[in-house]
Amino acid sequence: MSAATGPASGLPPGAASPAAASPPAARQNRLGLLVGDYKGGKTTLCAGCGHNAISERLLEAYFDLGIAPEQVAKLSGIGCSSKTPAYFMGRSHAFNTVHGRMPSVATGAVLANRTLHAVGVSGDGDSASIGIGQLVHLLRRNVPLVYLVENNGVYGLTKGQFSATADPGSTLKGGEVAELPAIDLCALAIELGAAYVARSFSGDKKQLSVLLRGAIAHGGTALIDVLSPCVTFNDHEGSTKSFAWVKEHDEPLQELSFVPAFPDIAVDYDPGTTTEVALHDGSRLRLRKLGADYDPRDRAAALTRLMAARGTGEVLTGLLFVDPKAPTLVERLRLPEAPLATLPPERVRPPPAALDAINAALR
Ligand code: SF4
Repeated sequence: MSAATGPASGLPPGAASPAAASPPAARQNRLGLLVGDYKGGKTTLCAGCGHNAISERLLEAYFDLGIAPEQVAKLSGIGCSSKTPAYFMGRSHAFNTVHGRMPSVATGAVLANRTLHAVGVSGDGDSASIGIGQLVHLLRRNVPLVYLVENNGVYGLTKGQFSATADPGSTLKGGEVAELPAIDLCALAIELGAAYVARSFSGDKKQLSVLLRGAIAHGGTALIDVLSPCVTFNDHEGSTKSFAWVKEHDEPLQELSFVPAFPDIAVDYDPGTTTEVALHDGSRLRLRKLGADYDPRDRAAALTRLMAARGTGEVLTGLLFVDPKAPTLVERLRLPEAPLATLPPERVRPPPAALDAINAALR
């Protein structure tokens, strides 16, 4: 029904009433795409699961950076976390691998097409147990990939058994106590030579958004361990991965802001108290130090700080370590600019004479 105009309505004849005014134009990114172009299917995870918030942050990051969904490859393993690529960016490439095998499939995908932006979504079960052998080699190779661990300390998909990241002394809903030492995936990644390592919390929208943008711009393997509470099996008193515990023990290392390579975002900051890190694609991370000095470019200091936090029960969040100059696997292999997948067979297969020469050399 159209709204009335004229003297009785207080509006000039023919004028559109506020109710009839067009809605504000939906925001477009620099490609002219709408947020709706980055949506995926409807989530089937439990209401309140931390993983849903992470999917939202990912979607926003790719939208804001103006990366076309078709330029993104989403990879995952098995677990509640590994279901999430179905819930964002439905137009992207996607491959849901078997348990713990995402790193090798991701490596193949990135080497076959170096122009893709790869994001691997995994969980603490998928990454810290069955997949840890694959993860460590992905890290030491510096495969260009954003590697997200949605870490809740339990196997949610199989009803809440402890995973290898559960802190000793923490309890399950039924009262069972974790006794084994926890694997700290950030410490492991820093030790193995990873060049972008961060920890965040699914409930910290601002920090996670900046860390994700930095990870996408980084260029090599960027591991972000995101504490993402399982509201169904591990959100009780006694859990060190619950919303309440993480909020209470969160110790952010910096206040972060991100300046993308395209110059249309202004960031307000005080130059006297910040560190700036230039990333692979020309974007910059600005880090305002909080409390004690912390330089995320010092690998040994990052490990020392993580060990100290373990002793005091702090959950350190923020950018733990970054080395934007570390060569990626693509650079080490000196791959051509054109994706391997687009090259004709004669450029990617050695001719028979070359194979004969290799065989002859081995005789
Ligand atoms: Fe999330 Fe836990 Fe539910 Fe899995 S079981 S969807 S991890 S809340």
